[in-house]
Amino acid sequence: MAGTTTGAARAEQPECRSARAAIPGYLDRRLDARHQRRFEAHIDRCAGCIRAFIDVRQVGWARRSASGARSWLN
Ligand SMILES: [Zn+2]
Repeated sequence: MAGTTTGAARAEQPECRSARAAIPGYLDRRLDARHQRRFEAHIDRCAGCIRAFIDVRQVGWARRSASGARSWLN
């Protein structure tokens, strides 16, 4: 019953968690402006989350394969 004291070495911040949780909603444009801005601002800084975002985005695009392919990452 001892608590695990292993730090997993991954600096997972709460912001990263919510950012990654917001990815699907962002791709579906379901986020409101506030969350959208927050999300964009975060992945603009966070390499880990931008990777996760690109990953999910590619899957989403492969599924739909015909959306406004607008790469805002440019
Ligand atoms: Zn992050």
